Amino acid sequence: MRIDHPYKNLKGGAWLRGNLHTHSTRSDGAHAPQDVLNLYAKAGYDFLMMSDHDVYTTEADYKALDSRGLVLITGNEISAKGVHLLHVHADKLVSPHEDRQQVIHEIAQGRGFSIVNHPMWFREFDHCTFDKLEAWQGYAGIEIYNGVIGRLHGSPYALDYWDRLLARDRRVWGYAHDDFHNKEKGDFALGWNVVYAKRNPKSIVEALRHGRFYASTGVEITDIAVKGRRIRIKTRNAERIVAMRDVAQRIAVADKKELTIEVPADAKYIRFECWGRGEKFAWTQPFWIVK
Ligand SMILES: [Zn+2]
Ligand SMILES: [Zn+2]
Repeated sequence: MRIDHPYKNLKGGAWLRGNLHTHSTRSDGAHAPQDVLNLYAKAGYDFLMMSDHDVYTTEADYKALDSRGLVLITGNEISAKGVHLLHVHADKLVSPHEDRQQVIHEIAQGRGFSIVNHPMWFREFDHCTFDKLEAWQGYAGIEIYNGVIGRLHGSPYALDYWDRLLARDRRVWGYAHDDFHNKEKGDFALGWNVVYAKRNPKSIVEALRHGRFYASTGVEITDIAVKGRRIRIKTRNAERIVAMRDVAQRIAVADKKELTIEVPADAKYIRFECWGRGEKFAWTQPFWIVK
């Protein structure tokens, strides 16, 4: 057996933090684009994507603003007529057809990729049902955490859907985002992705596309190492680390900042949840056990 995972050869780059789900006054956000950039830059973010509803933010739009040192990624949120999708690294505005599989295909034909947003939004937790996630092909992953849903109906989390997809051999990544609309309402700096990449849009987008990142709401992972059948996770501030296999079955729990496990040969995948104080988490991407 071997362990297939996205954290191989972490050299030549750095861990960079960013949010891909950000609204401004170009759609229903409360703050002007420059104010949004100022806010994220001031908080020490490395990269940001504006994702206004069916409004594509281009490289030219960004050039008209002061980046304040942020690496800026083009994009938008496909919103009208169905489940919301992030179009990351967009090179055009894809029309929000009702047929979301068609939208995902169209996105995949360009340079970017798609993420299915806040599946558990709404009173019935059914913004995007599991059936759709299972049927659709070609998206990179789902939001396992979406901050703004914390003040709306439904759940910000979609970890159960994620485990069910992973157990069906779907290699989809888990992303965490603010879905920033309004700083006064508390949407800011709730969830982010920490990628291992070089500080430019291409390298960051490739890391996000290929899973070279972890999702976080406040726990920082400092090392991810795989040696033979062992996986070791080190954090700065976890109070508990949980290793899980298919399907969300806990195989190790440590009330420490780090955890090393030996991978069971019959597991399909392993993933780690690092729990901190005050609803702070970090979620690694899956490690696949290949026979
Ligand atoms: Zn949305
Ligand atoms: Zn949104």
